[in-house]
Amino acid sequence: MCVEFEIKKFKMKSAYLIEPKNIRIKEVEIPEPKFGEVRVKISKIGVCGSDVHIYLGHRLLEKPIIIGHEGFGIIDKIGEGVENRNLGERVVIEPNIPCRNCKYCLSGRGTICSNKKVLGVNQAGCFAEFIVVPADFAWSVPNEISDENAVTIEPMAVAYHSLFSSNAKPGDTIAVIGLGAIGLLLAHLAIALGYKVLVTEINESKLKLATQIGGIPASPTGNEEEQILQLSKIWEENDVVAVFECAGSAFTASLVTASAPRGSEIVLVGLSEKLATFRPLKIAREGITIVPSIIYDHPFDFKRVLQLIQSKVINPSFIISREMPLEDLQNALEIAAKGDDSKIIINV
Ligand SMILES: [Zn+2]
Ligand SMILES: [Zn+2]
Repeated sequence: MCVEFEIKKFKMKSAYLIEPKNIRIKEVEIPEPKFGEVRVKISKIGVCGSDVHIYLGHRLLEKPIIIGHEGFGIIDKIGEGVENRNLGERVVIEPNIPCRNCKYCLSGRGTICSNKKVLGVNQAGCFAEFIVVPADFAWSVPNEISDENAVTIEPMAVAYHSLFSSNAKPGDTIAVIGLGAIGLLLAHLAIALGYKVLVTEINESKLKLATQIGGIPASPTGNEEEQILQLSKIWEENDVVAVFECAGSAFTASLVTASAPRGSEIVLVGLSEKLATFRPLKIAREGITIVPSIIYDHPFDFKRVLQLIQSKVINPSFIISREMPLEDLQNALEIAAKGDDSKIIINV
């Protein structure tokens, strides 16, 4: 049987990306949960760097769509076949839904599923009053976890996944280059777990935020060659075992591969589409490993992040720099594109 709150309206507000740099707030039908799905009444959504790329047209969508994927809210309708879920239950949405049928999914590698449904990219996203999702992709959030911490769980799960994509262990020293939301959250998690973390960032306010939470600044200056020399030296001296490229630019990816210490791992977390360069001789002779890290494993990483927040080991909401209403989404994306905000939250 399908259960729902008494709904007095049939239309909802939603934010469509009509074309690059054009968000339109539209009234559309409230979606209905199908078998195995729940409907979530959304209250907060994070603005992600990938939303900004989509908004600016760096990544083109097939058709106008409701964008956004970092959603938090409450279950307001439960579809057929869903058991043990409650109306009014606070939930955070896991927005990457692997097919669970392809050879990658069947070998436990759902992160690289090519049939994956991605909310806000190829499926209706979270910048709306309601969304429907498979019940197991709406994670129950205990009452001890604040709304602000809950809405930052998705990027926190990306950071979590990247840290454990490397072999670095608590007590080791790692380097994080690029302090956007993911870099900051990665630094926060690693520091909380007892790693020593060197942080590199050109934006002064983000670097300051990272040092306030215990990161050790290691920002090189000068031209590329000088930066490589400085980073190589400071990473070598500090015995860095893994370098996390979170800036997502071809320049930093090349910088990192040229500067990584002997025997270290380079974890690619940033998503640059541009060509980066590396010297095969250095990589091979110095035994450097390049490790890719993309999104998070279902059904593990969200569960682990929820537990780490509940146990008060981490407190990811520190990255929130501003909150704005849904009607101002276009403005929020323009502000996010400037790069000074660590995380903008949209309130519905
Ligand atoms: Zn995101
Ligand atoms: Zn698949």
